[in-house]
Amino acid sequence: MIRFFNTLSGRVEDFVPLRPGEVSLYTCGPTVYSPQHIGNMRAYVFEDLLKRFLIFSGFRVRHVMNITDVDDKTIQGAHAEGVSLQDYTRKYIDAFFADLEALNIRPADHYPRATDHIPEMVAIIKGLLEKGLAYRKDGSIYYSIAKFPAYGRLSKIRADDLRPGQRVEADEYEKESVRDFALWKAPKPGEPVWETELGPGRPGWHIECSAMSAKYLGPTFDIHCGGVDNIFPHHENEIAQSEAYWGRPFVRTWLHCQHLVRDGEKMAKSKGNITTISQLVAAGVDKLTIRYLLLSTHYRKTLNFTPETLSQARAARERLLDFVLALEGIPPRRPAAPGLSDHLAEARRGFTEALGDDLNIAEALAALFEFIRKINTLTAAEALGADDARRILDFLGELDTVLGVLPSKKEDLLPEEVQKKIAAREEARRAGDFRRADEIRAELLRAGIKLEDTKDGVRWKRVTKDGPAP
Ligand SMILES: [Zn+2]
Repeated sequence: MIRFFNTLSGRVEDFVPLRPGEVSLYTCGPTVYSPQHIGNMRAYVFEDLLKRFLIFSGFRVRHVMNITDVDDKTIQGAHAEGVSLQDYTRKYIDAFFADLEALNIRPADHYPRATDHIPEMVAIIKGLLEKGLAYRKDGSIYYSIAKFPAYGRLSKIRADDLRPGQRVEADEYEKESVRDFALWKAPKPGEPVWETELGPGRPGWHIECSAMSAKYLGPTFDIHCGGVDNIFPHHENEIAQSEAYWGRPFVRTWLHCQHLVRDGEKMAKSKGNITTISQLVAAGVDKLTIRYLLLSTHYRKTLNFTPETLSQARAARERLLDFVLALEGIPPRRPAAPGLSDHLAEARRGFTEALGDDLNIAEALAALFEFIRKINTLTAAEALGADDARRILDFLGELDTVLGVLPSKKEDLLPEEVQKKIAAREEARRAGDFRRADEIRAELLRAGIKLEDTKDGVRWKRVTKDGPAP
């Protein structure tokens, strides 16, 4: 049984999807007004872990992530640069997809854009006006939160904090501004305008997720994710819009990811303390090490981004890669180890049960590293055969469908330091400095990496006490 902490109930609950074997998942996507920073990307990595684990557990997952390409920030950004909204957002949409790929995040089934779904939003707003839940004021349309008694259930805002009839115009606002929020905004000079049945204007931010989730997943679906910042006002407002319009429960399980902090402060563009994926990659950090770092802290805990936590992530991942390399080097004729099936079953159980317990990644990784420790003992005692190694590698491949931290190319299994040394030796050879080249080769051999120069270039093998790998 899989269990998740549901923000709505405030409890850990058994997860039962609406339709057996199928999970409908909506995750709030980026507002494309700047490059995403690693704090933003943490939420997408968490959602990817969730999705991969559900697939690993046998579910078919239908995943929708919206792209917010019209809101206060994108409009201001386009205005400041003097370009169209479309031209302005395009480069950040492209950068976002490049970041997803860098972090080995599996694509969603749909990435609907707000500007492509104006008619769907207009239909809901019209319905809310007809039901008396929305009202017009100075060309804009607002949601009347006093008419929706369940308002505040997700964010636990107390009903007596509500100030009926007071309005807030901005897309994002603080809890102190619990007021009627804008569904449709009156035209303003310099802002994009859509001519619709509601009159001219543009949508507020919150309505897009109510419209696009229903279009692709139906009015009621299984899981909705986002960062903790989304709980209020964004997700509270989504519930109010969707449940009032369709008259049914909106989302069964809400999962929210905590912040990433740097020097004790939340990473945010407004604080000027952001780091992007491309900055880290330019500084020589492996993309999958970044993924490991963002993945390895439980999603409901604050993730501390420091040089130390980054190097811990690098070390942990290199232990994993080194383990794979050593297995690749087991000589062929050794007999099979007794008890391997037990170790495999125990590791599988530990990994699966931990993730099934509200995605307890720390325990899942602990189960994996405990397994590695046991296998390393067998390897050191020369008690592991090549067939065993193959079984273990297949098992790791299976776990990695969830973790996504192993490289797809064999040479990327080598630690960065070793890769650099191989490159330095090549450089020395090209320069005719064969003494230096031989020195590096000897150094690598002492570290267990044997280089061979073939007509197709340099090849390497992991060597064990028994000699070279097959
Ligand atoms: Zn959203």
